[in-house]
Amino acid sequence: MATKTKKAKKPAKPVKDMQQCRRCSASFDRNTIPGAVHLASCRIYNGHTNYETWVVSLWLDNNQGSHEYWGDAAVECRGEALADNNPFLKGLTLTLEDKTRYRLAKRLKEEITADADALMEDSGNEASMFADLMHGAISEVDWDELARGYMENMPELPPETNEDDDSDEE
Ligand SMILES: [Zn+2]
Repeated sequence: MATKTKKAKKPAKPVKDMQQCRRCSASFDRNTIPGAVHLASCRIYNGHTNYETWVVSLWLDNNQGSHEYWGDAAVECRGEALADNNPFLKGLTLTLEDKTRYRLAKRLKEEITADADALMEDSGNEASMFADLMHGAISEVDWDELARGYMENMPELPPETNEDDDSDEE
């Protein structure tokens, strides 16, 4: 009697299934959890975190006045960050860049939200379906990303301004 020796089955090799993300064009393996999650949830739009962030960026930059305004605001925020001696921040290792970005992102959010509120108020639609939709969209904006964009074009700090200067000790 012929005995057939069964070969032990090799464990199935995970098959790679690469797919290009329709939003950001990067390729991900659909058979991995991070890949599948990315492909299902990527919201990148024209190089921005999402559509909402792209819209704000587009409108701010398409207008010479607002483009310059936010460029100046970035420099102002850096000035404030340099002058900031908040004792609560002393122990933290925040760089000047972190502090500037935080201030600028906060200011972008506050001023643009206030503009939106004023617009709804003027049109008598303070509370409406459209106001809710607009606020929902605004809450998706990545203010930090917009702030980083304006900080890229800031003029260099004058050499005498040294962030690590200890001369502020009292
Ligand atoms: Zn993507």
